[in-house]
Amino acid sequence: MAAKMVSRKGSMSLDHRIQTQIEATGSLTVSEFMALALYDPTDGYYAKKIPIGRSGDYITAPEMTQVFGEIIALWFVDLWHQAGHSPLFHLVEMGPGRGTLMTDILRTFLSLKIPLPQVHLVEISPLLKELQKAALTPFSTSIFWHNDLTTLPQDQGFCMMVANEFWDALPIQQFTKMNEEWVERHVGKNDNQLIFLPEESTPIHEVCPDMPHLVTQISNHLKASQGAALFLDYGYDQPDAAGDTLQALSHHKPQSSLVNVGQADLTHHVDFYRLKKLFEDADLKVHGPMPQGEFLKELGLEIRTEQLCERANPDQRGTLRTAAVRLAHPSHMGTLFKAMCVVDNASLRPAGFNNNLTLLVS
Ligand code: SAH
Repeated sequence: MAAKMVSRKGSMSLDHRIQTQIEATGSLTVSEFMALALYDPTDGYYAKKIPIGRSGDYITAPEMTQVFGEIIALWFVDLWHQAGHSPLFHLVEMGPGRGTLMTDILRTFLSLKIPLPQVHLVEISPLLKELQKAALTPFSTSIFWHNDLTTLPQDQGFCMMVANEFWDALPIQQFTKMNEEWVERHVGKNDNQLIFLPEESTPIHEVCPDMPHLVTQISNHLKASQGAALFLDYGYDQPDAAGDTLQALSHHKPQSSLVNVGQADLTHHVDFYRLKKLFEDADLKVHGPMPQGEFLKELGLEIRTEQLCERANPDQRGTLRTAAVRLAHPSHMGTLFKAMCVVDNASLRPAGFNNNLTLLVS
């Protein structure tokens, strides 16, 4: 009986623990709340859930179509050629999810007879790390996992980095105006429910507190390796264009951010305006952001989709074409999602940002 009570206490829900913490401290900032909901080591979203896929909470571009990863692989190969195609180079992916994008990139490298580089995956979720291992073990190359960017290699030549839907997953602070003063929005409680404080908040201004130090770490790595990074995510590229973009998704449906804590994915729209400025301040050359649909179309999304359709059965054809429309059409992900590239070597001309692919690969 006593053991049972201990175990019940031990398994107190994250929601309950957060309420207890709020009783002790008064309130949490929105970013403190998000960090607990996402990263709590026992009950946080990334400790317990496989977020991506039909049985998860949302679907991402690489999970929709292999063409997404193939295009990014070709884009990398083009840059690698421009950078002198030394066999010593490495790939870094931030937030690799189920490993699908990296699988498609490596498969495309093999079919183009490009030597496979070392692969470095920056991932926080132990469950996703296991899926990534299972997906990538068949490739005969060295794969390393990192909890953050501080342990990336210094001696592996040219770096190509990619992150799809990584920035949107990071905690944000929210600020609102009270009596003409900007104040930080908090999470408090009323009866046994979590609430935002102040409850009615307009306008809202959002800031991702992790962005500056991540930009510094990425910039330092790109400078040391004369590398390039490609970021794809949903967000806005004008200053203060967004308002309240914090959203929770559970089983593909939006829900309140303050219920089922740790069970739902929490995301926000990425402030590409600030991201670009931070990289420029770090003396890197930034291309874009530009609408994802234009970027993918310029790099052959439709041509490659039709090429695959020629060999596909009717069901596969439907899936391939639907995915291409979802990724590129302005009413789906084509405009809301952006592509942005950052390079250390300003003479590199990344394809898709008003630059054509410089090599033709059959
Ligand atoms: N890129 C993948 C997954 C996107 S979901 C795709 O397109 O399918 C966000 C990814 O970032 C997940 O792999 C998640 O576990 C990881 N992630 C979230 N916060 C992180 C952090 N602070 N550090 C490292 N990885 C993180």
